[in-house]
Amino acid sequence: MGQIIEIQKVTVGPRYLTARIRVDEEAPLFTNEDLEGTTRVYNLMPQICDHACFGDAGKTFRDALHATEVAHLFEHISVELIARTGLGGTISTGRTTPITSVDTRTFDITLDCPDDALVAGALSSAAWILQWAYTGGGNPEPGIDAIVEGLTMLVKSLDDASESGNNSSEDAELLNQTDSKNVTANSASDITTSTDDATAIASNTVDGE
Ligand SMILES: [Zn+2]
Repeated sequence: MGQIIEIQKVTVGPRYLTARIRVDEEAPLFTNEDLEGTTRVYNLMPQICDHACFGDAGKTFRDALHATEVAHLFEHISVELIARTGLGGTISTGRTTPITSVDTRTFDITLDCPDDALVAGALSSAAWILQWAYTGGGNPEPGIDAIVEGLTMLVKSLDDASESGNNSSEDAELLNQTDSKNVTANSASDITTSTDDATAIASNTVDGE
């Protein structure tokens, strides 16, 4: 099969990036069409199960993972990668919209976009992860830590100075990054985020022996 996820077009707005994607004819359209492949993704990043996911019946992505669109899984992988860089603000959100006016395999993936290079890089990495997962796994297994590190370095090399952090959203999905900051999101429309990740203080106190 060809590319499982074809990223056809990317539109960058002031707050969101939207990627028009198409799932290959021979690729699974739903996660339960290749549960082995879906399990490979889960084993790589089980944290996606803890994502809040208000689009489907459940409250977290755990309830959706076993039977949802592969495009939706693609979105959650992207959100997870962005979140792990720590560069996406405290809340990362996304949304998957089927574009049925085109066909049943075309979707718009809309993600919070603090940095278009970061989001585009995450989408590309997520497509690669799905390619690996749904073509039998095998070696090399995607290294999530290495991907996240690569994305982080990419962004930092591209813009040291820019400070863009408008991530409040009433979108369909929320990921609360509690590992770096304690944020309680009671309602999606009532979120403030702070991006103070650029503050690096090197204090080298040298004590004489
Ligand atoms: Zn979701």
